[in-house]
Amino acid sequence: MSRYNKEIMIGIIPVAIVFLLFIQVNVVPILFVGVILFAIFYYTRMKSNGALANNRRSKAKAPTYLSFDDIGGQERAKKELREGLDFLIKREQTDHFGIRPMKGILLTGPPGTGKTLLAKAAAQFTGSVFLASSGSEFVEMYVGVGASRVRDLFKDARQRAIKEEKESAIIFIDEIDAIGGKRDGGQQKEYDQTLNQLLTEMDGIDSEETPRILLIAATNRKEMLDPALLRPGRFDRQIEVDLPDKKGRLHILRIHAKNKPLDDLVDLEKLADETFGFSGAQLEAVMNEGAIYAMREDLKLIGQSHLSSAIDKVMMGERTDRESTKDERDRVAVHELGHALVAEIVRPGSVSQVSLSPRGQALGYVRHNPQTEQYLYTKSFLEHQIMIALGGSAAEELFYGDRSTGSRNDFEQALGIVSTMMDAGLTRLGIMDRRMVTTEQLMTENGFILDELTSRTRELLKKEEHVFQRSLEIMQQEEVLSGDRFRALLLNEHVSAVSTA
Ligand code: ATP
Repeated sequence: MSRYNKEIMIGIIPVAIVFLLFIQVNVVPILFVGVILFAIFYYTRMKSNGALANNRRSKAKAPTYLSFDDIGGQERAKKELREGLDFLIKREQTDHFGIRPMKGILLTGPPGTGKTLLAKAAAQFTGSVFLASSGSEFVEMYVGVGASRVRDLFKDARQRAIKEEKESAIIFIDEIDAIGGKRDGGQQKEYDQTLNQLLTEMDGIDSEETPRILLIAATNRKEMLDPALLRPGRFDRQIEVDLPDKKGRLHILRIHAKNKPLDDLVDLEKLADETFGFSGAQLEAVMNEGAIYAMREDLKLIGQSHLSSAIDKVMMGERTDRESTKDERDRVAVHELGHALVAEIVRPGSVSQVSLSPRGQALGYVRHNPQTEQYLYTKSFLEHQIMIALGGSAAEELFYGDRSTGSRNDFEQALGIVSTMMDAGLTRLGIMDRRMVTTEQLMTENGFILDELTSRTRELLKKEEHVFQRSLEIMQQEEVLSGDRFRALLLNEHVSAVSTA
């Protein structure tokens, strides 16, 4: 009943007015008082709603302070950031040397590598108040709204620092590229105004000012940023926050293992090996998912097997119950064995497991043993990588005479590597700038490389036809084939080939 109160009131009021007019009562003073009462009621309601919303907002943004020790790896980034923060804590020294204050620090790097954590730790390290927001919050349809939000953010930072009696405030803007993207000139766009406001606020940061303001921004697309933001005096320091190396991964795993009951046999070092290329956020997810698997089994401790399954899950998504037909499963087995066989031949010992269990979008997968970390790749390494990617489609062609849509991602990967080879001057085009060559030239070279590697891949697979057949039977029956069993099959085949020769 109460939900219709408003409608009932709206219906009653005109009826009452008409009735009063009918009995010849002067309704003007009544209406006047009514309007004033309504206005007062409406105003107080708006105010209390606003306060509620503000309250909610400040709760959402309440920072959880954490220190640099809570961030795994990233030693170089932490060191550079700490140096950059000196001007906030060693104020007398910087004043003595007449050093102008740093206004902005830009953190760049892939998602989930700890950029937000670094900004929070910076606030804790310098005893500053911390305000976080994201570039997308400033993107509004209405001209001027984004700019006024930027103004408010800086104002808010100053006020909060004064209120909390802090000498400095750190403002963190994630995804700065949403507002700091390159301006295309010409028309005045909403984000032009927002960006201009940000530049104005940064220019307005004064060395004499207390509290001091420092802007830390993060992006994973630095090349998209407007050069005006990157010039000295604005984002004075740019720090790269890369994917962690093995030592960094181990450190991150240890941090996230702290509050978890791990079995004594768990080897975090091995886990750090197996998580090559993972970001901090993915490593955190591995520890978390591992704990969920252990809990599901009603165990007291988290074991190595739980964490291994968690790696698969984070890499390829949750095991799905997708029902596939036998024909489809057979084709997936052929496809995955194609990848595995090529991988094992070009990089002996590299296959850890071939599996037919569907995970995420994939219907099957090959798990590789951890690779040693390297930062430079030779031409032959890249060619081998392309051959492994093409192994799936080549096997399907040899076995069925045609290919399926299952190779889409493989081709994407192969094309990406070819593109890297071109940019690194590792193709027949030589050392080149893309502006010097036509699309046709690029396509011809791309086709040449991929055709040649496809035929080399086919040759490899044909040579090992027996092993392929034998492995396929095992896969069809058991759905998994371990790397060791796979290698034993290959070895047997070679031993018997030598003995018959
Ligand atoms: P994005 O660019 O997507 O905003 P980001 O680089 O800011 O990502 P964070 O938000 O800092 O990433 O990290 C996400 C989560 O991942 C953290 O809450 C933490 O649990 C974990 N994490 C990431 N990097 C690290 C690290 N170096 N040490 C410990 N935990 C980390």
